[in-house]
Amino acid sequence: MKWPVALAWALALPLAATGNPQDDGLFQYSTTRALLAGLYDGDLSIAEASHHGDFAIGTVNAIDGELIAFDGHFFRVGSDGHAHRLGPDTRTPFIVMKHFQQDLESLLPDPLDQSGLVQNLDTLLSSANHFHAIRIRGHFRSVVTRSEPRQTPPYRPLAEIMAEEQVTFELGEVEGTLVGFHSPSFVEGLNVPGYHFHFLTSDEERGGHVLALVSVRGRISIDTAHRLELQLPEGRPFADANLHDDRGKELDAVERGHKEAGSFGESAH
Ligand code: ZN
Repeated sequence: MKWPVALAWALALPLAATGNPQDDGLFQYSTTRALLAGLYDGDLSIAEASHHGDFAIGTVNAIDGELIAFDGHFFRVGSDGHAHRLGPDTRTPFIVMKHFQQDLESLLPDPLDQSGLVQNLDTLLSSANHFHAIRIRGHFRSVVTRSEPRQTPPYRPLAEIMAEEQVTFELGEVEGTLVGFHSPSFVEGLNVPGYHFHFLTSDEERGGHVLALVSVRGRISIDTAHRLELQLPEGRPFADANLHDDRGKELDAVERGHKEAGSFGESAH
């Protein structure tokens, strides 16, 4: 179901109390192209990363699952589908994060299916050319997520691993939190253009990278950013890697879970 734009705007409530007091930016460690190329071991610990944000998605070293963080709590969802709290010494090869400061809130009193949610989000974003951190707390009729098993060196490219070893989970009817970002199309090579969401159930038991959802009712919070801080790995593997190849098609396949339609990667923007 698609809401008229006017109604969507009417439900978007800019909050004076929290309205963008500091325009802090996104922080990102490494790049999607490096991850796609098989650079799965980073030197950034969760303890260090947490200085740059309390809201994040990414992965952990050896791509041992999908990373999600909000309210300063960091989790990994492994290939068994279960969520585990991350210790401060856990390291990440790729993370995108922000200190979440809500600029805009929108309530979803009626359920929206996935395409309706994307259309609704499109109307709420101030521009497709800025970054937006997006949190959606709500009730979902069903969420389909995926994760992947821990890898051992020598590492293969990510698209190969996902094609063969990706594990998907149908979470059924759940309460939980979507944590994600919408990034401009011009970040190709650095980050995921468009929408990218991870999910955690409210009992903190299950989750993963979101491939699809059936319907959602709840509360959308959006935090807009106009700056990006990029930290690159310092070691030889990154320094010596061939990162010239355009891996856009591989990224698309990885993000969408090798499925044809209905991905959050598809956006009106
Ligand atoms: Zn993901």
